[in-house]
Amino acid sequence: MTPPNGTGPVVLEARGIVKELGGNTVLNHVDLTLAKGDLKVLIGPSGSGKSTLLQCLNLLHIPEDGQLLLDGTPVNFKKKTDLYQLRQKVGMIFQDFNLFDHLSARQNVAIALKKVKKQAKKQAHDRACEELARVGLSNKMELYPAQLSGGQKQRVSIARALAMDPEVLLLDEPTSALDPELISEVLVVIRDLAKAGMTMLMATHQISFSAGLAHEFVFMENGRITEQGVPSVLLAENSGSRTRDFCAKIS
Ligand code: ADP
Ligand code: MG
Repeated sequence: MTPPNGTGPVVLEARGIVKELGGNTVLNHVDLTLAKGDLKVLIGPSGSGKSTLLQCLNLLHIPEDGQLLLDGTPVNFKKKTDLYQLRQKVGMIFQDFNLFDHLSARQNVAIALKKVKKQAKKQAHDRACEELARVGLSNKMELYPAQLSGGQKQRVSIARALAMDPEVLLLDEPTSALDPELISEVLVVIRDLAKAGMTMLMATHQISFSAGLAHEFVFMENGRITEQGVPSVLLAENSGSRTRDFCAKIS
């Protein structure tokens, strides 16, 4: 059974986020709340603004308008210290892993601990080993990205994000670049994180996996959230929801 959401305090809140790219309004007043332990899943057609929203939530994109609140405190987009703090607390997983090719799996995890968290070499090394073990990669730690499968690379990238002790994890189609047989090893890691209570917002086309796990589906179209609700309700046969139409088309 899916645990109740929204019971914890709000960790991350977006209010009225507007983002313009290339002269177009790509996000048009988006509001979204993540309470502690929430798993919300972003779905919607290609180009609807899912990636842009995720990138605004950890300020890889600076919104033109709107507000972000982290643990109830407004984030000042113009203040570097606020940006750094938000990015530390809001981790991001990308479709294409974003690993450093010249570093081993262990070094990829340890480097952020040394550079961002200013940890000593031994401490960073130990933590990297611990996080890689958590995603089932104890025996691959000294391998380089080119020696790893896509599923393994994505698990390294998850380990790297977890090593930063994020309060929220944003995942942008984490299995979209994977061969079909490698998808489940990454979904297992995500499911375990959800069960452990990690607060997450994930864009994905893995509808049946998400429906069994997510507290809420958030459906985007044309830069807006047009539907939001419990998956079983939105997907019910007689719901008449756009979410259901969309999910039927892609699965
Ligand atoms: P999704 O992740 O839902 O597929 P995106 O957030 O990637 O959607 O894109 C939303 C819209 O913004 C699309 O129309 C896309 O073409 C546009 N867009 C994304 N990035 C840029 C950019 N750097 N410059 C101009 N337009 C962009
Ligand atoms: Mg996208």
